[in-house]
Amino acid sequence: MYPFTLERPTNLATAAELGAAPVSEFIAGGTDMMQLLTDEIRRPEHLVALNGGVLDAHIGIERGGSLRMGAGARMSDVADHPAVRDAFPLVSQALLLSASAQVRNMATIGGNLLQRTRCVYFRDPGVAQCNKRELGSGCAAMDGDNRMHAVLGVSEHCIASHASDFAVPLVALDAAVLVRGPKGDRVIPVDDLHQMPGDTPEVETVLRRGEVITAIDIPAFAGGRRSTYLKVRDRTSFEFALVSAAVALDMEGDRIREARVAMGGVGAKPWRMRGVEQALADVRPDDDAFMAAAERASDGAAPREGNAFKLDLMRRAVFRALQTVGGNA
Ligand SMILES: Cc1cc2nc3c(=O)[nH]c(=O)nc-3n(C[C@H](O)[C@H](O)[C@H](O)COP(=O)(O)OP(=O)(O)OC[C@H]3O[C@@H](n4cnc5c(N)ncnc54)[C@H](O)[C@@H]3O)c2cc1C
Repeated sequence: MYPFTLERPTNLATAAELGAAPVSEFIAGGTDMMQLLTDEIRRPEHLVALNGGVLDAHIGIERGGSLRMGAGARMSDVADHPAVRDAFPLVSQALLLSASAQVRNMATIGGNLLQRTRCVYFRDPGVAQCNKRELGSGCAAMDGDNRMHAVLGVSEHCIASHASDFAVPLVALDAAVLVRGPKGDRVIPVDDLHQMPGDTPEVETVLRRGEVITAIDIPAFAGGRRSTYLKVRDRTSFEFALVSAAVALDMEGDRIREARVAMGGVGAKPWRMRGVEQALADVRPDDDAFMAAAERASDGAAPREGNAFKLDLMRRAVFRALQTVGGNA
């Protein structure tokens, strides 16, 4: 591990100031950052700890019915919180299907959104070709082992997939992150937080230096309760998604008023399925409608040899998730 200093700010303003230095990085629960430091994928000179009471961990329903979650809340606490389970069961499910109980007890939800990709080539310092680590070095995944990689939002420089399960329902539910930085506060929709790789795969989010995620808000959505998170993976626990689907349906009588659908494991960022949603607007929730909508899940996909199987899996996962939720209509 490269040498670094550990800074322990006691308030957000100092954390943002310390984090703004070019060679600083934040650490919260440390479950991802510690791996990256150990493998020397990240080499900060200063590590700024957010886990000393700097971050709020409160979870609760706000006036107007939105759900606010402090970025310092642990994944396990959010998953078990009655307000989350009641208003947005798909958020609780996505967290409980993530990692292991030990990791969830340590990891924060802010850190979860900013975890780095699980691309094996990004995480292996012995591999020279990784544009995310070293721009211009190439992408070993293009013709390598790309079974876990993205089929949406990829570029000729990077096909890494985004790994967070929690981010998927957040994107479906129009959630936003509250951010505090050296230049003040701002609110960023989760759908805009992560960037496509394009020509700059090393830049993964729109956050500026020193900006700390302080909270996550999910606006009230009538279909939040009629929802599910389906995760397809190579083993039933402690594994990242090959494909996942977050679905929520708001019904009006026997028709769908509004559908929210997003997918994980398939995109360079958590992926909102606008085409699927459009196909579900104002239709009766039956298998024919679900099948027609699910066909849209792979719109625009650009698979490689090792991950082409994901296209069919995406359609099947969306269909299955819709059946699960639609069955309760
Ligand atoms: C074995 C294993 C299995 C896993 N399986 C899954 C899985 O199935 N699904 C899944 O979604 N995840 C999975 N994970 C990832 C895990 O969920 C993340 O490691 C964890 O959520 C990161 O949270 P943290 O608080 O530990 O973040 P840290 O490791 O402390 O930080 C992660 C990143 O976020 C930044 N950061 C942290 N908090 C903030 C903040 N508030 N503001 C600005 N920057 C911040 C850090 O600088 C760092 O870049 C797994 C991890 C492990 C180790």
